[in-house]
Amino acid sequence: MMEISWEEITIDAEADQELQKVRDALISGRWDQGLRRFESEARHLRLLGPLIFKDNKVVLPGSLRRKALRSAHQGHMGAISMKRILREYFWWPGMTREADEFVKKCETCLLLSRKNPPIPLSTRTLPNGPWEILQIDFFTDKQFGYGEFLVVVDTYSRYLYVIEMRTMDADATNLALSRIFEVWGYPLAIQSDNGPPFQSEKFIKTWEDKGIKIWKSIPLSAQSNGAVERQNRGIKEALAASRIDKVNWKSALDKYVHMHNKVRPLSRLGVTPFELLVGWKFRGTFPYLWDNHENNLDRTEIREKDALSKLESKLYADEKRGAKPSDIVVGDTVILSRAKRCKSDSTFGADKYTVVARDGAKIVVCSDRGVQFSRNVQDAKRVPETFNESATELLSANEHLNEQGQSSTQNNEENRLNRGLNSDDKRDLHSTMDDEPRRSTRELKKPSKFKDMLLYTIFG
Ligand SMILES: [Zn+2]
Repeated sequence: MMEISWEEITIDAEADQELQKVRDALISGRWDQGLRRFESEARHLRLLGPLIFKDNKVVLPGSLRRKALRSAHQGHMGAISMKRILREYFWWPGMTREADEFVKKCETCLLLSRKNPPIPLSTRTLPNGPWEILQIDFFTDKQFGYGEFLVVVDTYSRYLYVIEMRTMDADATNLALSRIFEVWGYPLAIQSDNGPPFQSEKFIKTWEDKGIKIWKSIPLSAQSNGAVERQNRGIKEALAASRIDKVNWKSALDKYVHMHNKVRPLSRLGVTPFELLVGWKFRGTFPYLWDNHENNLDRTEIREKDALSKLESKLYADEKRGAKPSDIVVGDTVILSRAKRCKSDSTFGADKYTVVARDGAKIVVCSDRGVQFSRNVQDAKRVPETFNESATELLSANEHLNEQGQSSTQNNEENRLNRGLNSDDKRDLHSTMDDEPRRSTRELKKPSKFKDMLLYTIFG
C-alpha cells in the first residue's frame, strides 16, 4: 500500500525550490514569471510552516506528486475517480491533467478500455459491370434441410443464388460454384470471409488456376462482405415465413430468390438484378406489352444512382454510429480487440503489433514473431510510446484486492486479466458512486499535531 505521511510532505516541502519561491512570493507579494500557476491562485494560498495550502488542500511538493498519482490510481481507478481522490487531499498546478495522462499511460487500463468509435464506412464503388465480383458466404439455419446454404451474390447486379449444401467443405463448395459458372462464366474475383472452406488451399487453388482472384474480406468487420450479408436477412425471413404459411420451405426459398432476382426492382436503382445482369427485363411473371424494344438500360445512370444512394446511406450511417476517422498509421504500435468469451475478458488483448500497412478500413499488423494478418482499423488501439513504469508496481500493490484469492503461482497473463477484472468491477462501482452527492466533509488536521500520522490511506 502506498501512503504519504505529513512528515514526508513537510520534509520535501521544505527542500522544494519551487515551493520556496512560492513561500517568498506569498510573503513579499512579488511573483516570478515562472509561478503564474501559483500566482493565479494566490488568493487561495496560505502558509503553515513550510507547508502551503490551497484552501484546505496541501500543495504537494514536486517530489511526491508521482507517488500521489500512483497511489490514487491503485485498483486502476479511472481518471474521474482518481481526480476526485487527489482533489480531496492535494493540490498542485496541473494535477488533473497529470492524472489524465497517468491513466492514459497505464497499460492495464488500456487493455480494459473501450473500443474506439467506429470509423466512417467506406463506400464501395460499383464494379464496372455484372459478374465481375461475387461475394460468397454460408448461411446456417439448422431447421431447414441440411441446415447450410451457400449464398452467392453478384456485387454489381445483386443477382442472388442460395444453394442448400450437404457439406461445407471445399469440394462441395467448388462443385456448387462450378454449376453457377456453367451458366454465367467465371467472375474476375470472388470475395469471402475467412470461413473454413474459403481459406482452404483446395478452394483457393481451384479458382486461382482459372484466373479468378480470391479476396478475403476483413475479419470481425460487419461491413466487409456487405452485399452477401445483406441477403441473409431476406433468406431467413423467407424460410421463417414458410413455417407460418405451412408451405414447403424449398419452394418458398425458390420463390424468394425468384422475386429478388427477377421481379422486384432494386429500391435504389429501379431495375431488377436480372435486368442489371443480362440487360433485358425478365419476361414471364406478369403480362407485359413488349412494344419498347430498344434496350434502354443506361449503365452510366445506374452507376451514378448507385454512388449517390450509397453516399447518402453512408453519411446517414456514419452519423448514427458516431463514426470518427481513425488516425492509426503505418509504424504505430497497437493492441487489438478480441472476441469476448465472457464478461470478464478485457476488450483488448495484451499482445502488441506493429502496423505495416493500412488501406482504408483495413490494416495489416505484424506480431513480434513476424506473423502478419489483417484486421479492421476499428479493432486497433494505439499504444502510447511508454507506459508508466508503475504498472507492475500497481499490480503488486493491488494483490490484497483480489477477493477470489488467486494463487500467485498462476500464469502471469491470467493473473493480470483477473486483476483487471476486479479493478474493472471496482471502477464500475466507482462510476456509479460518481452520481451520488458527495457528503464527505473531511477536516484537515493540523500537521504539527500529527507529524507521524498518515495523511491518508486509500482502501485503509
Ligand atoms: Zn490502470
